[in-house]
Amino acid sequence: MAETIVMKFGGSSVADAQRIKAAAARIADRRKAGDRVVAVLSARGDTTDELLQMAAEVSESPDPREMDMLLSTGERISCALAAMAIRDLGYDAISLTGSQAGIVTDTSHTRARILDVRADRITEALDAGQVVLVAGFQGVSTEKDVTTLGRGGSDTTAVAVAAALGASVCEIYTDVAGVFSADPRIVPDAKKLGTVSFEEMLEMASSGAKVLQLRSVEYARTHGVRIHCRSSFDPGDGTIVVNEEENVEHPLITAVTHSTEEARVTLSGVPDTPGVAGAVFGALADAGVNVDMIIQNEPTEDDKAADMSFTVATEDLRDARAALDGLMEAQGIQSIAWDEQMGKVSVVGAGMRSNPGVAATVFRTLGEQGINIEMISTSPIKISCVVSADRVADAVRALHAAFDLGDDEDGAQTPHGAAR
Ligand code: ADP
Ligand code: ASP
Ligand code: MG
Repeated sequence: MAETIVMKFGGSSVADAQRIKAAAARIADRRKAGDRVVAVLSARGDTTDELLQMAAEVSESPDPREMDMLLSTGERISCALAAMAIRDLGYDAISLTGSQAGIVTDTSHTRARILDVRADRITEALDAGQVVLVAGFQGVSTEKDVTTLGRGGSDTTAVAVAAALGASVCEIYTDVAGVFSADPRIVPDAKKLGTVSFEEMLEMASSGAKVLQLRSVEYARTHGVRIHCRSSFDPGDGTIVVNEEENVEHPLITAVTHSTEEARVTLSGVPDTPGVAGAVFGALADAGVNVDMIIQNEPTEDDKAADMSFTVATEDLRDARAALDGLMEAQGIQSIAWDEQMGKVSVVGAGMRSNPGVAATVFRTLGEQGINIEMISTSPIKISCVVSADRVADAVRALHAAFDLGDDEDGAQTPHGAAR
């Protein structure tokens, strides 16, 4: 029986007419081979950023529902154009919006979550022999409004469609050859990983490796979808995200990841009474703001108030401000300070669970570079440090070298790497 496959093409892979035609040819080849093919496309090139800019030019705080009406257009353009190009190659093709494709989400505009994929229309089109192009990054809410899934959301569309169809693979075509030991734009000798485990990929995606959106990895793990990340420009064998037991590579450190879009919020004079932290983080949660690192300083003997710092993504800053402004007085918090120029660098690796010394190597390496560590957080397989945004690239390169992750001849890492 014919296999069903989902192919997702990111923004740079459909940026201009020539690339749309190249993607169309790649899609048509799979159809020609007899597969049932669904392609999920992103908006072309910088279209989403341009749409955001257009909104900013007419409104200081654009209405979220209208923002989604606007942002969802980018992906529709790509799909309609690709369908035309595929038809010219002699294959029947149909483009669908997220709503037409049956992507049902909750009502959180601009950061909606997929609740269900009612894929009947996709299945009917596949049964009729059509190639189906689904607009990524969008759906329809339970209130029947158009929603979008947050930046990078087309990855999640692709995985959700693959899960709903029981596809044998979800191929994510992008502008790099796969998942690397660090962002290859920052570390030229970063090594492409043949496989990466879900566990590590989740930590990488949550700490800034935007090659796969975090939610797409979560969704794939929950629904057992095979993700194959590869280049849309070169043939190459890419990276497969596998279950822990399938992962044959067990290095100490798998990757160094980073983000320069972190903001730090510091609350000073926080009353040292039960319930205040609950009120602060409850208000942020209600506003849909994800909090990353949290530090609280103990109050001194004569001062019954504590200081509390935490980080949020820069894109959530406005919502965080609105949520906290309404709370300061009621909770008796004295003052609030914002630092928008923060970054974060993380080392991720399942091997660190059973090997001491990784944290020491991270801190020593950053220290040698004169990079000040502002905050630290850890999980069993990740160590993250908040540093000044302008030192992030130096930090990534230094850590990548310290753990010997580079792709040189003798770069093969021993199980104990450089952490000893
Ligand atoms: P697309 O438009 O195809 O969705 P993205 O820009 O969202 O592509 O993601 C691909 C980019 O992710 C790459 O161009 C690369 O700069 C960046 N990136 C960051 N960390 C990594 C990593 N560890 N491995 C591969 N790419 C990474
Ligand atoms: N176009 C959207 C973005 O730029 C979604 C995506 O490309 O995945 O974030
Ligand atoms: Mg992306």
